[in-house]
Amino acid sequence: MAEISSNERMEKIVSLCRRRGFIFQSSEIYGGLNGLWDYGPLGVELKRNIKEAWWCDMVSAHNERVQLDGAPRPFQMVGIESSIIMHPRVWKTSGHYDLFHDMMVDCRESKRRYRYDHIKGAWVEHDGQKVFVTCITDGDAKEEITRRALLYFKLKAKYADKLVWHGDVIDLTSINETGQVLAPDAKEPGTLTEPREFNLMFETHIGAMRSDDSKAFLRPETAQGMFVNFRNVVDSSRVKVPFGIAQQGKSFRNEITPRNFTFRTREFEQMEMEFFCHPSESRQWYQFWRDRRFQWYVDLGIDQKRLILRDHEQGELSHYSVGTADVEYAFPFCEEGEYGELEGIAHRGDFDLRSHMEGKLVREGDQLVVEQGEDGKPKYPGSGKDLTYHDEEAKERFVPHVIEPAAGADRTVLAFICDAYDEEEITNEKGKTEMRVVMRFHPRIAPVKVGVFPLLKNKPDLVAKAMEIRALLQPHMTVFYDETGAIGRRYRRQDEAGTPFGVTIDFDTIGENGDENKNTVTLRERDSMKQRRVKIDDLLDILLREIK
Ligand code: ATP
Repeated sequence: MAEISSNERMEKIVSLCRRRGFIFQSSEIYGGLNGLWDYGPLGVELKRNIKEAWWCDMVSAHNERVQLDGAPRPFQMVGIESSIIMHPRVWKTSGHYDLFHDMMVDCRESKRRYRYDHIKGAWVEHDGQKVFVTCITDGDAKEEITRRALLYFKLKAKYADKLVWHGDVIDLTSINETGQVLAPDAKEPGTLTEPREFNLMFETHIGAMRSDDSKAFLRPETAQGMFVNFRNVVDSSRVKVPFGIAQQGKSFRNEITPRNFTFRTREFEQMEMEFFCHPSESRQWYQFWRDRRFQWYVDLGIDQKRLILRDHEQGELSHYSVGTADVEYAFPFCEEGEYGELEGIAHRGDFDLRSHMEGKLVREGDQLVVEQGEDGKPKYPGSGKDLTYHDEEAKERFVPHVIEPAAGADRTVLAFICDAYDEEEITNEKGKTEMRVVMRFHPRIAPVKVGVFPLLKNKPDLVAKAMEIRALLQPHMTVFYDETGAIGRRYRRQDEAGTPFGVTIDFDTIGENGDENKNTVTLRERDSMKQRRVKIDDLLDILLREIK
């Protein structure tokens, strides 16, 4: 790939997404809505393929026997689809009602609200005045801070060297005073409020009357659907521990500062799985899922140089978690050496099932106990239902431990898009040098699998044969038929869409140049641009093998 900066790369990716119909801003004709996005024709195919690959690898086609500490262990996987609006008590016992918040600050001048930990800044001095200049940016923070500092001190860009910097760019959270803070959209310092809690759940009301009693929430995660259905699944589908329940679906978080394209949005889709196992085996299963989930991204073609599996430090763990690791990707908008989370794999112990049985749990020393209200009764009582598991063979009853791989479908799509984007200089069909933009998607997730091109559109025999080939392939894969423009341009259009194969129907195919190559087509491979002739009779088999 030609040398371009990360910012430039991200701008090109965002522009390609819009131009080629991967991702559009939501309600764009009305000016758009912050933190909400729509998928276009190519984007929806890509996202469906990624979700399908996840469902297939996790649920329908997973390998039932794995090696756990050397011994093969069978396990089962099933899926569910639970409702987006759940009983409000679910969120009280799960802890989301009390604990699911971010710290935010308000600006009295601009009337804007920011996530406290998203504001970056640096101490900058000029003419004896020292100000902590801040910004919210997806790009280079130092560049943006310089721009704002020049504006504030009323200096022209050429006097940037007159600014005295005290230290590097840091988070606003790491300074104590607010008096000299120049807020991200303010003209004067000292306009930010102290940080306050802000619950991220979207509220709604059920039924015709609006009161506190009718209040409900759009789910901020899909996981609770699996916990509250644990008993139903065990009783109805004869699964035995260890087993997993998977779900894909929309989640909603009223993020204070949605940003970085589709990385942090207010409506997004998750792909989550809750794996229930015996407490004595939970650490091994945690290790198993941690490694297996990382490998999933590698197998689908993400460059390992940009992917890491990061174990959380003790202080980062949720109050109930025994261990958590994140799969993270070096997005172009991340600072050098930083990564964005794609998926968290957490050992959640028995926290969730116990909460839904007994009531909201809090940590007391090394114990989890039911939180008491002021009246001495459980603050948020659980369902009181039995969510234990009885192992008939071992004659043992226990509360299963849970391992949770929780991935975001939209972030995963964005990572695959960023990773696939490539530019290269090539010599085109006319012998001229040109820049080729190519999305190098793994064939399994590519939105369109094959482009079908009659060499000329005004030659009925070529068009008829091309239509025949399209009809042959279409029941098995997504096909894009294109008959307009020079063949090179048509190839280039499909390179940008990430289509791994192109089939060209030419005069040889229809026997105009003799019988030798009759009923053969040119098969072009996107990445190498190599072309070979294949028999139409073999075409479907070859393509099916390649796209699996
Ligand atoms: P973050 O720290 O980035 O806010 P999180 O740790 O709160 O994420 P989880 O609650 O573990 O995220 O959710 C699981 C996955 O859901 C994340 O790894 C991510 O891929 C996705 N996700 C979470 N919040 C968002 C969001 N606002 N927009 C898009 N995807 C999200």
